[in-house]
Amino acid sequence: MTIHSVLLAEPRGFCAGVDRAIEIVEKALLKFGAPIYVRHEIVHNNFVVDALKKKGAVFVEDLNDVPPGATLIFSAHGVSRTVQQEAQARGFSIFDATCPLVTKVHVEVAKLHKEGYEFIMIGHKGHPEVEGTLGQIDSGIHLVESVADVASLRPAQTERLAVVTQTTLSVDDTAEILAVVKDKFPTVRQPKQQDICYATQNRQDAVKLLSNQVDIVIVVGSPTSSNSTRLQELAHRMGADSYMVDSATELQPQWFVGKSSVGLTAGASAPEVLVQEVITQLRLMGAVSVRKMNGLLENTKYPLPKGLRSSS
Ligand code: SF4
Repeated sequence: MTIHSVLLAEPRGFCAGVDRAIEIVEKALLKFGAPIYVRHEIVHNNFVVDALKKKGAVFVEDLNDVPPGATLIFSAHGVSRTVQQEAQARGFSIFDATCPLVTKVHVEVAKLHKEGYEFIMIGHKGHPEVEGTLGQIDSGIHLVESVADVASLRPAQTERLAVVTQTTLSVDDTAEILAVVKDKFPTVRQPKQQDICYATQNRQDAVKLLSNQVDIVIVVGSPTSSNSTRLQELAHRMGADSYMVDSATELQPQWFVGKSSVGLTAGASAPEVLVQEVITQLRLMGAVSVRKMNGLLENTKYPLPKGLRSSS
């Protein structure tokens, strides 16, 4: 048996926050010329980052690597207050490409902190978004990565305790951790609307439906991308063989032995051109039918910062 059909997840690929972040770098390059400095990869996708490097973007982790007077962009994942204040103090011309849905979590943390709240943050240690959110306040925010971590939580008080989460987590894992948190701290305050973003939720919902209809699922995304990794894990949990590839060149013929139907999706930071290259490769491997799943149409769009809008 060889590959016969490809089913495309809907929605898949770029979200509004990623679209906006890439556009900020492109517009800044056009308006101010190269080099434009970006703190951290603007989004977690190797193809996107390499393409912007070729246009003159310089990606740095340390503000010491940014020369005086430079234009600096914060990545879609957001930054801590320390980074923000240091960048301002050094006088860089700053554009903030932090996704508005991450900024919303930062605003919530700062507001409740002033009201005396302590926080439990559900997220992955070391992820730049988590570092940015933890760094919104100096103390009183505890990171948990798993149900097991909840057992060792010892907040200083429990009357004013709130939960926030990374935006790109597994919806199911987070619900499980949250249930254990609520069990241990029944009065804990949850976000009014879940912090996991619409794009992460929609792509996970779509991959659940997709996984039930195919023999194997391919996720286009870079290994550093949290939401792409969650899609691959979810397809696997749903019982489908699943693999994540950065590009079509990583597809391995042996994955498809005995598989007739292939499901294809892409993380929120993976461009559609890479999905199309995977489709071309799957056609060369025998696929004769390529069709889209029925799915949600996303029409979220976020405005660019002042100074980069067409009229400014
Ligand atoms: Fe924003 Fe979600 Fe996209 Fe991240 S995945 S940039 S939080 S919309």
